[in-house]
Amino acid sequence: MPLQFDGSNAYSYVEDQLNINLTHFRIPGYQGREDCAEYFIEKFREINLNFSYMLHNFTVQSVECQNVLFKLNEHNNNIVILGAHYDSRARATKDPDELKRDEPVPGANDGASGCAVLIDLARVFYSLKENLTCQLWFLFFDAEDQGYDYSSGISGWDWCEGSDKFVEDIESFYNSSLESFEAMILLDMVGGVNLKFINEQYSTSSLLEEIFEVGRQLGYTSEFPNNPEVRSIRDDHVAFVNYGIPSADLIINFWNNPAWPYHHTINDDITAISASSLEVTGKTIEQFIYNHYFSNNNTDLGNYPWTNDNNLLDTDIVTLLMILGAIFVGIIIFFFIRRSRANKGQLSGD
Ligand SMILES: [Zn+2]
Repeated sequence: MPLQFDGSNAYSYVEDQLNINLTHFRIPGYQGREDCAEYFIEKFREINLNFSYMLHNFTVQSVECQNVLFKLNEHNNNIVILGAHYDSRARATKDPDELKRDEPVPGANDGASGCAVLIDLARVFYSLKENLTCQLWFLFFDAEDQGYDYSSGISGWDWCEGSDKFVEDIESFYNSSLESFEAMILLDMVGGVNLKFINEQYSTSSLLEEIFEVGRQLGYTSEFPNNPEVRSIRDDHVAFVNYGIPSADLIINFWNNPAWPYHHTINDDITAISASSLEVTGKTIEQFIYNHYFSNNNTDLGNYPWTNDNNLLDTDIVTLLMILGAIFVGIIIFFFIRRSRANKGQLSGD
């Protein structure tokens, strides 16, 4: 399958999100956050007017928040979740300029990048939906990024409020007697310059390793290094891991990293976003889905089948060939014996 994800599309979706509101960006409780949820609905309606979606409303400290869930291929019972948070951080708590630390973070990479990749993946997968053998969820989380660092955040808010609340209510979003979850993949800070993913420790290791392997086989060896940095990040995937769904967080090292000094600063803006980083992320997820959930698949690049074991089919064929071989040999022996008896009969008749 030629990969169709387009990094320049995704780049423009990051720009769109940044332009929704230039003063408060997408902070929970502000108009920009609501308008951003509307923006996603509009983009998915551009893909198809009837793209199915559900809203998940909840409150944190009496502020109205909202997760937005789009579903593709609802007739398939095996669900793969692709997620990202869309809220932007209310305070630039890590800004090197102390005077800027009460200003909001634009959240170009921290938030908008993952959402932008989800939108273009939805475009690609919608066009191939007949060939996909899973149900896909595109899940946009509110209220991920308002917790405390350096003793500053929004009073009474924790990290990952949106995903925690979603998983609390997850039973009302799927039919647990019919449907089941196969994987959850979270995209967080996936579009910055100098992209280099880490080995995030809350993630299900086999799933994360598989995504790394797919990325490396596509040639993205600096983004998916052989010896990635090891970190534990409390992110939106953790609630899904705890719910029992294999989950992986694609994320960078954002602490004391000279290659990415913009985390929770006012400089997390469009100038530090790279269309090629967005494309690396999008194409890797696209290929990962083809490897595992594409009918007529003959280009399995993954070397770690964490779902079905493709080798089982080969073993079955070998067994079948052995049985057919035995039957064939049996038939030959049968006719050989019959013929030699017939010959004996003829001889004795003479
Ligand atoms: Zn953040």
